Amino acid sequence: MKTILKTEITVKNICEGFVYNELEGKGLFGLSGKLTIQPEYQRNYIYASDGGKKEMAVIESVLKGYPIGLIYFNKVNEDKLEVLDGQQRITSVGRFVTDKFAIKDENGMEQYFGGMAKDKKDKILETKLLIYECAGTESQIKEWFKTINIAGVPLVPQELLNAIYSGPFVTLGKEEFSNSQNANIQKWSAYIKGSANRQAFFERALDWVSKGNIDDYMSSHRFDKNINELKKYFNSVIDWVSIVFTDVESEMCGLEWGRLYETYHKNAYDPVEISAQVRKLLGDYVVKDRRGVFEFILDDSVNTKLLNVRVFDDPTKKVIYAKQTKTAQTKGKSNCPLCSIGHDANKSKIWGFSEMDADHVAAWSKGGKSDIKNCQMLCKTHNRAKGNR
Ligand SMILES: [Zn+2]
Repeated sequence: MKTILKTEITVKNICEGFVYNELEGKGLFGLSGKLTIQPEYQRNYIYASDGGKKEMAVIESVLKGYPIGLIYFNKVNEDKLEVLDGQQRITSVGRFVTDKFAIKDENGMEQYFGGMAKDKKDKILETKLLIYECAGTESQIKEWFKTINIAGVPLVPQELLNAIYSGPFVTLGKEEFSNSQNANIQKWSAYIKGSANRQAFFERALDWVSKGNIDDYMSSHRFDKNINELKKYFNSVIDWVSIVFTDVESEMCGLEWGRLYETYHKNAYDPVEISAQVRKLLGDYVVKDRRGVFEFILDDSVNTKLLNVRVFDDPTKKVIYAKQTKTAQTKGKSNCPLCSIGHDANKSKIWGFSEMDADHVAAWSKGGKSDIKNCQMLCKTHNRAKGNR
């Protein structure tokens, strides 16, 4: 079987002679009749459902110059092609340029293709698509589909990006980050989840250096002959983590180390002190979110929300609620101690049980325990303002 990558076919070419069948809900033909968009075995057009969000997203991607992914054609004979993969995307552009639906412009106004400025129209029509033309028997094509996993497990996004931006940069990146022979992979696995050959490490490296804009980054570095910046940034993050946290804990794997590095790497930390804190918190049963321990420590050990600290149980809360409410009623004050010392209408308000939350009188982070002696009920507003400390 032969596959050829076509990079010069434009939206305009594809939409030449595009026919959309309203009755059957199918995009039928394109490429001046040469292309059958929806062979019988394909599922129906689904991008128009759910308010058309998906078909609008396709057009918005095209307008922004983002790639809409690889498309696969099956070459039946010299004059006949069928869409193997990509019919939803092709039907979306076909329907748009034939004014079947509108997108929203910057001001939220509906905009049909027919009413667009010429430069925008041209931008859409001149967009080139990435198309693999495959020629072979049906069984060969099915076999090949299986190999590249399209039919079964879909390509992970990074695999698709690697295909779209293939070139020297991707080649070097894969050599470094998806090479199981690289001895560093094991070290990196302490911090990064996923498998090297499914591009988890390459993806993470790109995600960190690009601050989440992998697409843009790959597009602008596509023809670079080196990956120095990528490697340097990735190693800075890994070095920083492994110096600050000297012990490798299983809870570290898959944390947002890129973001943590950006936020905290300029602060000074004492690794010995940190190591002791980590061990203490990971051993404390009140800490429900053990993965939050690392950022909690980096962030000066104040934001207990990161730890999801186990709070007081219901019986305890009800006892305290009853006690506080009884005292408050005899004094004519609010049963929320903080409301009662205020100056607004709430100073004598008696809150219902469900309107209040339990609070540690002595903050948990300062050693306050989660037992009844350290419990008070606050109205939800005051509890939130106190920040669950
Ligand atoms: Zn209150």
